Amino acid sequence: MYVIKDSCISCGACEAECPVGAISAGDGIYVISSECIDCGACANVCPVDAPQAE
Ligand code: SF4
Ligand code: SF4
Repeated sequence: MYVIKDSCISCGACEAECPVGAISAGDGIYVISSECIDCGACANVCPVDAPQAE
C-alpha cells in the first residue's frame, strides 16, 4: 500500500487519479486509505513525490 509523506503540499492532484477513491484530504496533507491497490497512479502525478510504496 502507498502512504503519503509529510512532503505533500495538498495540491489535490492525486485524488482524482486514484481508481478506487482511496485518497482524501487530511489534516495538512492528503491521506490514503486501506483500499489502495498499489497502482502507483498517485505517485505518477505528484509534483513532490509524496506518495511512497510501503
Ligand atoms: Fe490510489 Fe493507486 Fe495511489 Fe493506491 S497507489 S492510493 S490505488 S492511486
Ligand atoms: Fe499531496 Fe502529491 Fe497528492 Fe498533491 S499530488 S495532494 S502534493 S500527495
